[in-house]
Amino acid sequence: MGKDYYEILGVPRNATKEEIKRAYRRLAKKYHPDLNPENRKEAEEKFKEISEAYEVLMDDRKRAIYDKYGEEGLKGRVFSEEGFTWNDFTHFSDIWDLFGGFGDFFRDFFSEPRRVKRGRDLSARVEIDLKDVLTGTKREVKVKTYETCPVCNGTGAAPGSEIKTCPDCGGTGQRRVVKQHGFFQFVSVIPCPTCHGTGKIVEKKCPECGGTGRVLKDKTLVVQIPPGIDDGDILRIRGKGEVPEGGGIPGDLYVYVYVKMPEGMRREGKNLHTVLRIPYPTAVLGGEVKVDTLDGEERIKISPGTESGTEIRLRGKGLPPFGGGTRGDLILRVEIEVPKKLSKRAKELIRELAKEMDVHTRKSWFGR
Ligand SMILES: [Zn+2]
Ligand SMILES: [Zn+2]
Repeated sequence: MGKDYYEILGVPRNATKEEIKRAYRRLAKKYHPDLNPENRKEAEEKFKEISEAYEVLMDDRKRAIYDKYGEEGLKGRVFSEEGFTWNDFTHFSDIWDLFGGFGDFFRDFFSEPRRVKRGRDLSARVEIDLKDVLTGTKREVKVKTYETCPVCNGTGAAPGSEIKTCPDCGGTGQRRVVKQHGFFQFVSVIPCPTCHGTGKIVEKKCPECGGTGRVLKDKTLVVQIPPGIDDGDILRIRGKGEVPEGGGIPGDLYVYVYVKMPEGMRREGKNLHTVLRIPYPTAVLGGEVKVDTLDGEERIKISPGTESGTEIRLRGKGLPPFGGGTRGDLILRVEIEVPKKLSKRAKELIRELAKEMDVHTRKSWFGR
């Protein structure tokens, strides 16, 4: 059992974003480490916890995963070059806006330079066939995204116009605000309102992007899908999200992968399970059946006297694990096909057979 984010924030499971925001704001004020100098350590822990809960519940994508799989779902199955970490706070700017800055604690906590803005994440969905899981594949995804403006190169200034250092913050993009809370002095750093935290003042705005430094574009990205991917896995592609207004680090692209399963096939990790129906005479006498596997058609031997429910394991004919390794197996569970329609001759032969085998239809379980 992971953490209960709803309980942490004290909101119902169907809470709206507005309710979540209110709850977070109230708790963050209560547990802000700068306001709890006597028990800063505990406050920090608590603050981290509520921020984590807020981060997840405010993100539709993460909230959906959390509701379905719990905390583990968020941690386990997001793949990226360096794995998914909680330090990767995508709502950095949201939390920032909520308070107008958190002071030095905030910088230590998120260890991201305050002035570097991060763009929004994007998400896309791809569907692949089971056989693509074997080899991995490439898929094109179309996204509408903000890119760095090609005319001003993200500066937001018209070509030839001057970019000045902001006189109000001296180019730092920050302003320190001192507030008094009872006995405590609360120093917070807010983004400079004159230059919106950029540290620069643009004399004449770029006509292409209107001074925002970015343009909206339809883009087609090629996504490499590695072998062994499972249905519902998420691939994070760094830096392929939106470029933020005024320039900064682009967000990430989250690609949701769905794997179409052939009918009657079930996947269990790297093993595949399915039912193999064989004709009645083959089960009795033995023989050969052709089976369609991921590697093509295989001929498999059926031993004489094979019963329904027998498992036939084709080693190495399953799927590769994510990240490489030996392939799993294809496991066939034998079912004997009982013909529903018989020719007159076949009926005669079976009657003959029944007589020959002295078939009894009476079963005794209780010794009567
Ligand atoms: Zn521009
Ligand atoms: Zn400024």
